[in-house]
Amino acid sequence: MTTDDVLVIDDIVIPPGSYKTVEIQVARLLSGTLIHMPVHVFRSANPGPTLLLSGGLHGDEVNGIEVVRRMISLGIFEDIQCGTVVALPIINVYGFLFFSREVPDGKDVNRSFPGSSNGSLAAQVAHTLATKILPVVDMGIDFHTGGASRTNYPQIRYDPLDPNAVDMAKAFQAPISMGSGLISGSLRACGQAHGVPIIVYEGGESLRLDEQAIKEAIRGTKRFMHHVGMLPKSPKVHGIKGREKASPKLPRHIAGNSWVRAEASGLFSFERASGQAVREGELIGRIRNPYDSYTVKIFSPMDGFIIGHNNIPLVHRGDALFHIGKESPWPEPES
Ligand SMILES: [Zn+2]
Repeated sequence: MTTDDVLVIDDIVIPPGSYKTVEIQVARLLSGTLIHMPVHVFRSANPGPTLLLSGGLHGDEVNGIEVVRRMISLGIFEDIQCGTVVALPIINVYGFLFFSREVPDGKDVNRSFPGSSNGSLAAQVAHTLATKILPVVDMGIDFHTGGASRTNYPQIRYDPLDPNAVDMAKAFQAPISMGSGLISGSLRACGQAHGVPIIVYEGGESLRLDEQAIKEAIRGTKRFMHHVGMLPKSPKVHGIKGREKASPKLPRHIAGNSWVRAEASGLFSFERASGQAVREGELIGRIRNPYDSYTVKIFSPMDGFIIGHNNIPLVHRGDALFHIGKESPWPEPES
């Protein structure tokens, strides 16, 4: 519950101009150990928006967790000029403990919103967020990492039908931005039901730290915090070199994205990778039979930009290999 100057999370009162960590109880492990979801709350003495920064909704998505941890560690939120930052490094502590995307019953928290207090473990985690955090925040950035062995080039995904989310994505200026509709049961959809626009940042691969993805996330968050008056300065947009050379054409807005899938099973090697521009018909990878009885060449189906690729060298026919999108203008505001 929030008014102009009172913020209460899980019965803990956090006055303006103060910092508190609230340990929200969720559920016990099999061993009886009680699991908490620590929430770090930083409040300026000056009124302003309340911004949620969360990671680890999928427990193995380490880059998102590291982004929030590092921003707390760097002290970025300690001198905000207005408003409140609610920083939640790990939503799904259960998945984190088991190096897993899901909670131990196999359910995805990001398909379990709004959840319920006596539902599955995933539903309980979702319910905790939906009832204790979403009602007190105005907007959110949720940090993710590519699933399984797939890596995502640093990118923001936003709801193209929500002008507030478009505005947030534009202020963040990630290397790549793209519209992505709301999925039923997701945190973003639940946020919308609470009137809280949430954008999702994706960068790197699960269980592998990616310094470029982490740094781009922090720079974009600072740009957004500057946009809403929390920080006096805004990092410039270009400058981080990853595996590819830093492209002068970033940031880009992408649409028409689709996955190129494996046409055969075998050993996969990529010739082009996330962050690279490709032309239609360009050779981007190969799948070879381990006994050398066949090789299948993979060509880009379009002119575009690789926004994600699969790092695993063993693929079955149908596996997702390259996520490619086309550059396109931002959606026009409706008049
Ligand atoms: Zn995720």
